[in-house]
Amino acid sequence: MNQDGTPLEDNRACQNVAVLGATGSIGTATIDVLTQLNRIDPDFRWHVSAASGHKNTRLLAELASGLAEAPDRIVLSDNENAESLGADENQLRALGSQLEFGPEALISAASDKSVDVVVAAIVGRAGLESTMAAVEAGKRVALANKETLVVAGPVVSQACEKSGAELLPVDSEHSAIFQCIQAAASKPKKLILTASGGPFRNWTREQMVTATPESALAHPTWQMGPKITIDSATMINKALEVIEARWLFGLPADAIEVVVHPQSIIHSMVEFEDSSVIAQLSPPDMRLPIQYALTYPRRLPCPCPDFDRTKPWDLTLEPADPERFPALRLGFEVAEAGGTAGAVLNAANEAAVGLFLAGKIRFTDIVLGCHDVLKNHAHEADPPLDRLLELDRWARRELKKRFGLS
Ligand code: NDP
Ligand code: MG
Repeated sequence: MNQDGTPLEDNRACQNVAVLGATGSIGTATIDVLTQLNRIDPDFRWHVSAASGHKNTRLLAELASGLAEAPDRIVLSDNENAESLGADENQLRALGSQLEFGPEALISAASDKSVDVVVAAIVGRAGLESTMAAVEAGKRVALANKETLVVAGPVVSQACEKSGAELLPVDSEHSAIFQCIQAAASKPKKLILTASGGPFRNWTREQMVTATPESALAHPTWQMGPKITIDSATMINKALEVIEARWLFGLPADAIEVVVHPQSIIHSMVEFEDSSVIAQLSPPDMRLPIQYALTYPRRLPCPCPDFDRTKPWDLTLEPADPERFPALRLGFEVAEAGGTAGAVLNAANEAAVGLFLAGKIRFTDIVLGCHDVLKNHAHEADPPLDRLLELDRWARRELKKRFGLS
């Protein structure tokens, strides 16, 4: 039987998976999950039919060479043609995969007829067009790229309704909420997102003013790409996740809460009408939510480790502190405002994180800058995608101007 219960025609089932952002933290974890899934059940084949990388062509070539079966197509989104591949060209050519170049190739990979599942693992607003293409083509989308929903939540939701696409969360908190709702089979009253608190959980605002990129990149519980790691340190990540939850689960901002849980074991919780709270727990390992988005509704053995229950464990919950982490307020305000606010917040933040990592602004300037750019924008309630992308460009320019940079 196929996963959806339909009979197999050739006694062998296959899912074609396009991994967009294969060279990143989520992308490499996805390849690991798919490799392990093929070991568990040799009669059900998970084929990486497309894989993309941006700058890291070396890693992309290595990942593709390590697969049992080469991808049908490999997308090099930052390259214009094969000549720009340099030393990696031979290794990539030896795979026999179709090589495609530039951002347009991401869109055609995401919407290709042969693809069943698209793993949207590109970082930032750069992932929006390919994620939208997958949604419009009615795919199952395993969504790591939360920025797409932050920028264009209502547009994405409408496109899902129209095409019948399945948007399954990879973000651990949203996967947890999704799993809690499935388990309860009831309508949620409140979504309670957990946050690790990041590396500065116990720092004062004064200490944070002098935080360096190195200290901000040292996350206590998660190994992730640099942009989301800085977002976790400012807690803008949690702000983006509040907005993501608002559009994914269709609840208003005042039905969403954030609590700090430094161990990152409770991935989130849902409160139901009768005040019962259901939580999802697992070790902090992204392979579990990635796998669940791929295999849902099935649960299969996962490569992430089990808990060591022979030792005592502490599971602590603390209230979040918006005085020290003002990003949290921005998240709730933007989730409530909707419209153009998410696109502006996201773009200002991406620009500010880039400047902080380049040593041009202070850590605390990231959220201050986002706040000021948001304040200076004239809110529009129901913008089309073109307008959101225009405001994305505007907000990046404004953020730089705010710090006297161009
Ligand atoms: P990484 O920085 O590790 O990887 C980003 C991926 O995107 C790489 O494959 C990179 O290619 C590619 N990329 C970068 N810029 C572009 C661009 N302009 N166009 C096309 N591709 C591009 O990020 P993460 O894996 O950490 O995060 C990916 C997404 O998943 C983010 O939206 C993040 O918020 C979300 N997420 C991540 C989690 C995690 O644990 N890492 C947890 C929850 C959500 P290359 O490296 O070749 O340049
Ligand atoms: Mg998360």
